[in-house]
Amino acid sequence: MDLVRAGPRVVSTTIRIPDGSPFGPHNLPYGVFSVAAGAPRIGVRLGDTVIDLSVLLDDDGADRVFSAASLNPFMAQGPARWAEVRERITALVAADLPDEALHPVRDVTLHLPVEVADYVDFYASQHHASNLGRLFRPDAEPLLPNWKHLPVAYHGRAGTVVVSGTGIVRPSGQRKAPDEAVPTFGPSQRLDIEAELGFLVGVGSELGERIDVDAFAEHVFGAVLVNDWSARDIQAWEYVPLGPNLGKSFATSISPWVVPLAALEAARVPLPEQDPQPLDYLRGGQDRGLDVELVVEWNGEEVTRPPYREMYWSPAQMLAHMTVGGASARTGDLFASGTVSGPERRQRGAFIELTWGGKEPVTVKGEERTFLRDGDVVTISAAAPGPGGTRIGFGEVTGTILPAG
Ligand code: CA
Repeated sequence: MDLVRAGPRVVSTTIRIPDGSPFGPHNLPYGVFSVAAGAPRIGVRLGDTVIDLSVLLDDDGADRVFSAASLNPFMAQGPARWAEVRERITALVAADLPDEALHPVRDVTLHLPVEVADYVDFYASQHHASNLGRLFRPDAEPLLPNWKHLPVAYHGRAGTVVVSGTGIVRPSGQRKAPDEAVPTFGPSQRLDIEAELGFLVGVGSELGERIDVDAFAEHVFGAVLVNDWSARDIQAWEYVPLGPNLGKSFATSISPWVVPLAALEAARVPLPEQDPQPLDYLRGGQDRGLDVELVVEWNGEEVTRPPYREMYWSPAQMLAHMTVGGASARTGDLFASGTVSGPERRQRGAFIELTWGGKEPVTVKGEERTFLRDGDVVTISAAAPGPGGTRIGFGEVTGTILPAG
Protein backbone atom coordinates (compact mmCIF):
# COMPACT_ATOMS: atom_id res chain seq x y z
CA MET A 1 0.00 0.00 0.00
CA ASP A 2 1.41 3.35 -1.05
CA LEU A 3 1.35 5.58 2.05
CA VAL A 4 3.32 8.46 0.57
CA ARG A 5 1.15 9.81 -2.20
CA ALA A 6 0.97 13.34 -3.39
CA GLY A 7 -2.07 15.24 -2.16
CA PRO A 8 -4.05 14.45 0.98
CA ARG A 9 -2.59 11.93 3.38
CA VAL A 10 -4.32 8.62 2.94
CA VAL A 11 -5.03 6.11 5.66
CA SER A 12 -3.95 2.64 4.68
CA THR A 13 -6.78 0.68 6.23
CA THR A 14 -10.53 0.96 6.19
CA ILE A 15 -12.30 2.45 9.20
CA ARG A 16 -12.35 0.09 12.16
CA ILE A 17 -15.89 -0.51 13.42
CA PRO A 18 -16.14 -1.66 17.06
CA ASP A 19 -17.75 -5.10 17.47
CA GLY A 20 -21.52 -4.83 17.79
CA SER A 21 -21.56 -1.15 16.86
CA PRO A 22 -25.06 -0.01 15.82
CA PHE A 23 -23.32 2.36 13.37
CA GLY A 24 -22.16 -0.31 10.93
CA PRO A 25 -22.08 0.02 7.12
CA HIS A 26 -25.84 -0.63 6.81
CA ASN A 27 -26.77 2.41 8.89
CA LEU A 28 -24.78 5.48 7.71
CA PRO A 29 -26.79 8.22 9.45
CA TYR A 30 -26.22 11.83 8.42
CA GLY A 31 -25.49 14.75 10.69
CA VAL A 32 -24.11 18.28 10.81
CA PHE A 33 -20.78 18.57 12.63
CA SER A 34 -17.90 20.93 13.21
CA VAL A 35 -14.37 20.48 14.49
CA ALA A 36 -12.77 23.16 16.67
CA ALA A 37 -13.47 26.55 15.06
CA GLY A 38 -14.35 25.05 11.66
CA ALA A 39 -17.65 25.67 9.91
CA PRO A 40 -20.51 23.19 10.35
CA ARG A 41 -20.80 20.73 7.46
CA ILE A 42 -22.35 17.37 6.63
CA GLY A 43 -20.93 14.11 7.89
CA VAL A 44 -21.92 10.50 8.00
CA ARG A 45 -21.19 8.21 10.94
CA LEU A 46 -19.46 4.83 10.63
CA GLY A 47 -18.52 3.14 13.90
CA ASP A 48 -17.07 5.88 16.07
CA THR A 49 -15.82 7.88 13.09
CA VAL A 50 -17.43 10.88 11.44
CA ILE A 51 -16.71 11.03 7.71
CA ASP A 52 -16.66 14.54 6.27
CA LEU A 53 -18.75 14.45 3.11
CA SER A 54 -17.80 18.02 2.19
CA VAL A 55 -14.26 16.70 1.59
CA LEU A 56 -15.27 13.54 -0.24
CA LEU A 57 -18.36 14.39 -2.26
CA ASP A 58 -18.55 18.13 -2.85
CA ASP A 59 -16.53 17.91 -6.04
CA ASP A 60 -19.38 16.20 -7.87
CA GLY A 61 -21.06 19.34 -9.10
CA ALA A 62 -24.33 18.84 -7.20
CA ASP A 63 -24.43 22.30 -5.58
CA ARG A 64 -21.93 21.58 -2.79
CA VAL A 65 -24.76 20.42 -0.56
CA PHE A 66 -22.39 18.76 1.90
CA SER A 67 -20.70 22.05 2.77
CA ALA A 68 -24.05 23.39 4.02
CA ALA A 69 -24.80 23.90 7.71
CA SER A 70 -27.99 21.84 7.46
CA LEU A 71 -29.16 18.74 5.63
CA ASN A 72 -31.94 20.70 3.89
CA PRO A 73 -30.20 21.25 0.51
CA PHE A 74 -29.30 17.54 0.27
CA MET A 75 -32.73 16.40 1.49
CA ALA A 76 -34.36 18.59 -1.19
CA GLN A 77 -32.51 16.70 -3.95
CA GLY A 78 -34.86 13.74 -3.62
CA PRO A 79 -34.82 9.96 -3.39
CA ALA A 80 -32.79 9.15 -6.53
CA ARG A 81 -29.97 11.36 -5.30
CA TRP A 82 -30.27 9.97 -1.73
CA ALA A 83 -29.85 6.45 -3.10
CA GLU A 84 -26.92 7.41 -5.32
CA VAL A 85 -25.07 9.12 -2.46
CA ARG A 86 -25.67 6.17 -0.14
CA GLU A 87 -24.17 3.85 -2.77
CA ARG A 88 -21.17 6.13 -3.19
CA ILE A 89 -20.57 6.30 0.56
CA THR A 90 -20.83 2.52 0.83
CA ALA A 91 -18.16 2.18 -1.88
CA LEU A 92 -15.96 4.92 -0.40
CA VAL A 93 -15.82 3.46 3.11
CA ALA A 94 -14.70 0.10 1.74
CA ALA A 95 -11.58 1.77 0.31
CA ASP A 96 -8.86 4.10 1.58
CA LEU A 97 -10.00 7.53 2.66
CA PRO A 98 -8.02 10.73 3.11
CA ASP A 99 -7.16 11.35 6.73
CA GLU A 100 -8.54 14.88 6.56
CA ALA A 101 -12.04 13.47 5.98
CA LEU A 102 -12.06 11.38 9.17
CA HIS A 103 -12.77 12.54 12.72
CA PRO A 104 -13.29 10.55 15.92
CA VAL A 105 -16.89 11.19 16.99
CA ARG A 106 -15.64 12.33 20.43
CA ASP A 107 -13.75 15.22 18.76
CA VAL A 108 -16.68 16.77 16.89
CA THR A 109 -19.51 19.09 17.90
CA LEU A 110 -22.85 17.92 16.58
CA HIS A 111 -25.40 20.55 15.53
CA LEU A 112 -29.11 20.63 14.78
CA PRO A 113 -29.11 18.50 11.60
CA VAL A 114 -31.88 20.33 9.76
CA GLU A 115 -33.40 23.74 9.55
CA VAL A 116 -36.83 22.76 10.79
CA ALA A 117 -39.59 24.13 8.57
CA ASP A 118 -42.93 23.20 10.15
CA TYR A 119 -43.36 20.90 13.12
CA VAL A 120 -46.39 18.70 13.69
CA ASP A 121 -46.68 16.27 16.57
CA PHE A 122 -49.05 13.31 16.29
CA TYR A 123 -50.61 11.17 19.00
CA ALA A 124 -50.34 7.77 17.32
CA SER A 125 -49.96 5.32 20.22
CA GLN A 126 -53.26 3.83 21.34
CA HIS A 127 -51.69 2.88 24.68
CA HIS A 128 -50.48 6.45 25.28
CA ALA A 129 -53.72 8.11 24.12
CA SER A 130 -55.79 5.76 26.30
CA ASN A 131 -53.58 6.31 29.35
CA LEU A 132 -53.62 10.10 28.94
CA GLY A 133 -57.38 10.00 28.41
CA ARG A 134 -57.79 8.16 31.72
CA LEU A 135 -55.48 10.60 33.50
CA PHE A 136 -56.81 13.88 32.01
CA ARG A 137 -60.49 12.88 31.71
CA PRO A 138 -61.06 10.19 34.36
CA ASP A 139 -64.86 10.15 33.97
CA ALA A 140 -65.01 9.76 30.19
CA GLU A 141 -64.15 7.15 27.54
CA PRO A 142 -60.33 7.08 27.33
CA LEU A 143 -60.26 7.44 23.52
CA LEU A 144 -62.22 10.30 21.95
CA PRO A 145 -64.53 9.28 19.05
CA ASN A 146 -62.19 10.55 16.30
CA TRP A 147 -59.06 8.75 17.48
CA LYS A 148 -59.38 5.53 15.44
CA HIS A 149 -60.50 7.41 12.32
CA LEU A 150 -57.68 9.90 11.92
CA PRO A 151 -54.15 10.42 13.24
CA VAL A 152 -54.73 13.20 15.77
CA ALA A 153 -52.02 15.92 15.88
CA TYR A 154 -51.25 19.51 16.84
CA HIS A 155 -48.91 22.06 15.26
CA GLY A 156 -45.84 22.62 17.42
CA ARG A 157 -43.22 25.33 17.47
CA ALA A 158 -40.51 24.69 14.85
CA GLY A 159 -38.26 27.47 16.16
CA THR A 160 -37.73 25.76 19.52
CA VAL A 161 -36.63 22.40 18.16
CA VAL A 162 -33.12 21.99 19.60
CA VAL A 163 -30.34 19.47 19.20
CA SER A 164 -29.54 16.86 21.82
CA GLY A 165 -27.42 18.27 24.64
CA THR A 166 -29.15 21.67 24.73
CA GLY A 167 -30.10 22.59 28.31
CA ILE A 168 -33.86 22.70 28.97
CA VAL A 169 -34.94 25.69 31.06
CA ARG A 170 -37.89 24.80 33.24
CA PRO A 171 -40.87 26.67 31.80
CA SER A 172 -43.12 28.94 33.81
CA GLY A 173 -46.77 29.48 33.11
CA GLN A 174 -50.30 29.36 34.42
CA ARG A 175 -51.50 26.28 36.23
CA LYS A 176 -54.66 25.53 38.17
CA ALA A 177 -55.31 22.31 40.03
CA PRO A 178 -58.96 21.14 40.02
CA ASP A 179 -59.34 22.04 43.70
CA GLU A 180 -58.01 25.59 43.24
CA ALA A 181 -60.39 28.48 42.52
CA VAL A 182 -58.05 30.56 40.35
CA PRO A 183 -54.85 29.95 38.41
CA THR A 184 -51.39 30.91 39.67
CA PHE A 185 -48.21 31.67 37.74
CA GLY A 186 -44.86 30.01 38.35
CA PRO A 187 -42.34 27.36 37.29
CA SER A 188 -43.91 24.09 36.16
CA GLN A 189 -44.07 21.53 38.94
CA ARG A 190 -44.96 18.64 36.64
CA LEU A 191 -42.24 18.73 34.00
CA ASP A 192 -42.19 15.56 31.90
CA ILE A 193 -40.76 13.91 28.80
CA GLU A 194 -42.32 12.28 25.75
CA ALA A 195 -40.18 9.67 23.95
CA GLU A 196 -40.99 9.75 20.23
CA LEU A 197 -39.67 9.17 16.73
CA GLY A 198 -39.65 12.09 14.30
CA PHE A 199 -39.69 11.99 10.49
CA LEU A 200 -38.04 14.57 8.23
CA VAL A 201 -39.53 15.65 4.92
CA GLY A 202 -36.95 15.99 2.15
CA VAL A 203 -39.17 16.66 -0.84
CA GLY A 204 -42.19 18.82 -0.14
CA SER A 205 -45.45 19.28 -2.03
CA GLU A 206 -47.36 22.12 -3.68
CA LEU A 207 -50.16 23.96 -1.92
CA GLY A 208 -53.41 22.18 -2.77
CA GLU A 209 -51.67 18.88 -3.56
CA ARG A 210 -51.91 15.73 -1.43
CA ILE A 211 -49.11 13.32 -0.63
CA ASP A 212 -50.53 9.86 -1.21
CA VAL A 213 -50.07 7.32 1.56
CA ASP A 214 -48.00 5.19 -0.86
CA ALA A 215 -45.70 8.11 -1.79
CA PHE A 216 -44.09 8.24 1.66
CA ALA A 217 -40.60 7.18 0.53
CA GLU A 218 -40.58 9.77 -2.27
CA HIS A 219 -40.87 12.54 0.31
CA VAL A 220 -39.45 11.40 3.64
CA PHE A 221 -35.68 11.38 4.05
CA GLY A 222 -35.15 9.81 7.46
CA ALA A 223 -35.92 9.57 11.15
CA VAL A 224 -34.63 11.05 14.40
CA LEU A 225 -35.35 10.58 18.09
CA VAL A 226 -37.54 13.24 19.68
CA ASN A 227 -38.08 14.28 23.28
CA ASP A 228 -41.22 16.42 23.39
CA TRP A 229 -40.67 18.00 26.82
CA SER A 230 -44.09 18.64 28.38
CA ALA A 231 -45.19 20.75 31.36
CA ARG A 232 -48.25 18.76 32.48
CA ASP A 233 -49.64 21.36 34.90
CA ILE A 234 -49.50 24.11 32.25
CA GLN A 235 -50.88 21.71 29.61
CA ALA A 236 -53.79 20.51 31.75
CA TRP A 237 -55.08 24.08 32.32
CA GLU A 238 -54.53 25.47 28.82
CA TYR A 239 -55.33 22.60 26.43
CA VAL A 240 -59.15 22.87 26.25
CA PRO A 241 -60.43 23.43 23.58
CA LEU A 242 -57.54 24.05 21.14
CA GLY A 243 -54.81 21.71 22.33
CA PRO A 244 -51.27 22.08 23.68
CA ASN A 245 -49.51 25.45 23.53
CA LEU A 246 -47.10 26.76 26.18
CA GLY A 247 -47.01 23.39 27.92
CA LYS A 248 -45.00 22.11 24.94
CA SER A 249 -43.59 25.10 23.05
CA PHE A 250 -40.59 25.88 25.28
CA ALA A 251 -38.36 23.13 23.78
CA THR A 252 -38.39 19.94 21.72
CA SER A 253 -35.10 18.02 21.53
CA ILE A 254 -34.01 15.86 18.59
CA SER A 255 -31.06 13.51 18.07
CA PRO A 256 -28.20 14.78 15.90
CA TRP A 257 -28.01 11.71 13.62
CA VAL A 258 -30.67 11.31 10.93
CA VAL A 259 -31.16 7.63 10.11
CA PRO A 260 -32.06 7.36 6.41
CA LEU A 261 -35.27 5.53 5.54
CA ALA A 262 -33.15 3.15 3.45
CA ALA A 263 -31.43 1.95 6.65
CA LEU A 264 -34.80 1.03 8.17
CA GLU A 265 -36.04 -1.39 5.48
CA ALA A 266 -35.28 -4.46 7.65
CA ALA A 267 -37.16 -2.82 10.54
CA ARG A 268 -40.46 -2.54 8.64
CA VAL A 269 -43.34 -4.40 10.27
CA PRO A 270 -47.10 -4.36 9.71
CA LEU A 271 -49.11 -2.09 11.99
CA PRO A 272 -51.33 -3.57 14.69
CA GLU A 273 -54.79 -4.24 13.20
CA GLN A 274 -56.71 -1.06 12.38
CA ASP A 275 -60.34 -1.55 13.29
CA PRO A 276 -62.44 0.15 12.01
CA GLN A 277 -60.84 0.31 8.57
CA PRO A 278 -59.58 3.84 7.98
CA LEU A 279 -61.01 5.93 5.14
CA ASP A 280 -59.57 5.39 1.64
CA TYR A 281 -56.90 8.09 1.78
CA LEU A 282 -55.38 6.44 4.86
CA ARG A 283 -55.29 2.91 3.42
CA GLY A 284 -52.02 1.51 2.10
CA GLY A 285 -49.56 2.66 4.74
CA GLN A 286 -50.27 -0.29 7.02
CA ASP A 287 -46.97 -1.99 6.09
CA ARG A 288 -45.00 0.99 7.35
CA GLY A 289 -44.80 0.15 11.03
CA LEU A 290 -41.26 0.16 12.40
CA ASP A 291 -39.66 -2.23 14.86
CA VAL A 292 -37.65 0.36 16.76
CA GLU A 293 -37.05 -0.08 20.48
CA LEU A 294 -36.51 3.08 22.50
CA VAL A 295 -34.74 3.16 25.86
CA VAL A 296 -35.25 6.00 28.35
CA GLU A 297 -32.62 6.66 31.00
CA TRP A 298 -33.27 9.01 33.90
CA ASN A 299 -30.04 10.22 35.52
CA GLY A 300 -28.31 7.25 33.94
CA GLU A 301 -30.80 4.61 35.11
CA GLU A 302 -33.03 2.82 32.59
CA VAL A 303 -36.69 3.39 33.49
CA THR A 304 -38.65 2.31 30.40
CA ARG A 305 -38.36 0.69 26.93
CA PRO A 306 -41.10 1.96 24.62
CA PRO A 307 -41.68 -0.26 21.55
CA TYR A 308 -42.38 1.69 18.34
CA ARG A 309 -43.85 -1.42 16.64
CA GLU A 310 -46.98 -0.95 18.84
CA MET A 311 -47.91 2.38 17.19
CA TYR A 312 -51.44 2.41 15.74
CA TRP A 313 -50.86 4.88 12.87
CA SER A 314 -47.90 4.65 10.48
CA PRO A 315 -45.75 7.64 9.51
CA ALA A 316 -47.03 7.22 5.92
CA GLN A 317 -50.59 7.69 7.20
CA MET A 318 -49.49 10.70 9.25
CA LEU A 319 -48.00 12.42 6.18
CA ALA A 320 -51.03 11.57 4.03
CA HIS A 321 -53.32 13.02 6.69
CA MET A 322 -51.17 16.13 7.18
CA THR A 323 -51.50 17.05 3.50
CA VAL A 324 -54.95 15.68 2.58
CA GLY A 325 -56.56 19.07 3.12
CA GLY A 326 -54.14 20.70 0.69
CA ALA A 327 -51.53 21.96 3.15
CA SER A 328 -48.14 21.89 1.46
CA ALA A 329 -45.19 20.07 2.95
CA ARG A 330 -41.74 21.66 2.88
CA THR A 331 -38.15 20.49 2.97
CA GLY A 332 -37.24 20.35 6.64
CA ASP A 333 -40.72 19.63 7.95
CA LEU A 334 -40.56 17.54 11.09
CA PHE A 335 -43.50 15.38 12.05
CA ALA A 336 -43.25 13.33 15.20
CA SER A 337 -45.15 10.21 16.18
CA GLY A 338 -46.38 11.25 19.57
CA THR A 339 -45.32 9.44 22.72
CA VAL A 340 -44.40 5.83 22.10
CA SER A 341 -46.02 3.61 24.73
CA GLY A 342 -46.54 -0.15 24.82
CA PRO A 343 -49.05 -2.16 26.85
CA GLU A 344 -46.72 -2.80 29.81
CA ARG A 345 -45.91 -0.29 32.52
CA ARG A 346 -42.18 -0.31 31.72
CA GLN A 347 -43.01 0.42 28.07
CA ARG A 348 -44.63 3.80 28.74
CA GLY A 349 -42.86 6.71 27.07
CA ALA A 350 -43.86 9.56 29.42
CA PHE A 351 -43.37 9.89 33.17
CA ILE A 352 -46.99 10.94 33.72
CA GLU A 353 -47.98 7.48 32.47
CA LEU A 354 -45.09 5.62 34.06
CA THR A 355 -45.96 7.10 37.50
CA TRP A 356 -49.72 7.23 36.82
CA GLY A 357 -50.11 10.96 37.25
CA GLY A 358 -47.44 11.07 39.96
CA LYS A 359 -49.30 8.61 42.21
CA GLU A 360 -47.03 5.59 41.58
CA PRO A 361 -43.41 6.78 41.78
CA VAL A 362 -40.52 4.92 40.19
CA THR A 363 -37.20 4.38 41.89
CA VAL A 364 -34.31 6.24 40.27
CA LYS A 365 -30.88 5.95 41.86
CA GLY A 366 -32.51 4.80 45.10
CA GLU A 367 -35.03 7.66 45.26
CA GLU A 368 -38.76 7.70 44.60
CA ARG A 369 -39.38 9.97 41.62
CA THR A 370 -42.38 11.29 39.68
CA PHE A 371 -41.69 14.45 37.62
CA LEU A 372 -38.42 16.17 36.69
CA ARG A 373 -36.26 18.18 39.09
CA ASP A 374 -33.66 20.78 38.15
CA GLY A 375 -30.41 19.01 37.30
CA ASP A 376 -32.10 15.82 36.10
CA VAL A 377 -30.75 14.34 32.87
CA VAL A 378 -32.97 12.36 30.49
CA THR A 379 -31.45 10.38 27.63
CA ILE A 380 -33.45 8.52 25.02
CA SER A 381 -31.69 6.07 22.70
CA ALA A 382 -33.01 3.55 20.19
CA ALA A 383 -32.08 0.73 17.87
CA ALA A 384 -33.79 -1.27 15.13
CA PRO A 385 -33.04 -4.49 13.27
CA GLY A 386 -30.79 -4.08 10.24
CA PRO A 387 -30.02 -6.56 7.46
CA GLY A 388 -28.44 -9.92 8.37
CA GLY A 389 -28.88 -9.66 12.13
CA THR A 390 -27.20 -6.25 12.40
CA ARG A 391 -28.52 -3.37 14.53
CA ILE A 392 -29.30 0.13 13.33
CA GLY A 393 -28.62 2.69 16.07
CA PHE A 394 -30.24 6.10 16.34
CA GLY A 395 -27.70 7.40 18.84
CA GLU A 396 -29.35 9.44 21.55
CA VAL A 397 -31.23 12.58 22.45
CA THR A 398 -30.34 13.95 25.85
CA GLY A 399 -31.17 17.03 27.89
CA THR A 400 -30.56 18.44 31.38
CA ILE A 401 -33.20 20.42 33.25
CA LEU A 402 -32.05 23.93 34.16
CA PRO A 403 -33.76 26.12 36.79
CA ALA A 404 -36.62 28.38 35.66
CA GLY A 405 -35.44 31.74 34.33
CA1 CA B 1 -45.81 14.68 22.00
